[in-house]
Amino acid sequence: MPGRAAALLLVAVAGIPFDEAQILWAPSWEEARKEASTRRVPILVAFLKDGEAGSVDVWDTTFQDPTIVAYLNEVAVPLPAHTAAADAGHSPESFVDPRTGKTTDRCSVYKVITCPDHNSIHSEALTFLRVKETPKCFVLGPDGKPLSGTGEVKGTKPKDLLLALRAAQRSLGKPLSRTIYRRARDKLARGRAHFEAEEFAPAIRALQGLMKDRKAPDEFRKESEQLLAEVNAAGIDRVVKAQSVLGENPKEGRRLLRELRATFRGLEAAGVAKRALIEAGKQHPGKGGKK
Ligand SMILES: [Zn+2]
Repeated sequence: MPGRAAALLLVAVAGIPFDEAQILWAPSWEEARKEASTRRVPILVAFLKDGEAGSVDVWDTTFQDPTIVAYLNEVAVPLPAHTAAADAGHSPESFVDPRTGKTTDRCSVYKVITCPDHNSIHSEALTFLRVKETPKCFVLGPDGKPLSGTGEVKGTKPKDLLLALRAAQRSLGKPLSRTIYRRARDKLARGRAHFEAEEFAPAIRALQGLMKDRKAPDEFRKESEQLLAEVNAAGIDRVVKAQSVLGENPKEGRRLLRELRATFRGLEAAGVAKRALIEAGKQHPGKGGKK
């Protein structure tokens, strides 16, 4: 009865606060590789199956063990390789995405990702990992390849996982903390989401915040810098459009320029808007109004 087993999985995770006492599963191989290589941590892949006593047991014990939860979150990137049908208890639930602050649907079992996420993690895993039975865990390097042998973990008890993870960690060196990584990653995602929604001022705040974060990984700061350049280009584009309004409707043109000067504060576009305002004041003396 897959429904009953899934219900057990559900009971196991019910009532756990979103971001603390649960495993922060990565949503894709791509994100897992990116995070693992930036943070210099191993990837843990867990093959679990709905309706299978062994899997439910691993979920109820190993993956609720506070040491495992903390260890997986802090010095590894965990990936669930799990296929599930909609009738197996994996119904979508609404969650507030901590990255964007927006409400999205999440898997009701792996609460930080969606069901299509863990389904595709599973099918991609099968292209290069041999899984004869479930439950089964693999510890892999940051590139998704085994650090030694097949990467298969001998057992599924907390001590089996800790042993394999610690061995992998030792060969990778000092890891970058999850908190620092995720703080930078989330700021970048927030900045990008605001930019795509044309909410420029909050986009600039998030991206400049990331630029000032000296602990943030270089790749995020670089991406943030590129995105800020795009925001700036969008700002300059709008200044040019506002200037074209000046001829027909000077008052409206100046209002738009003042708005752009405030919105893009901190970027070159704000300076361009300011100069355009001064220029407009010269061309229409006495109509310049307050700036
Ligand atoms: Zn699911």
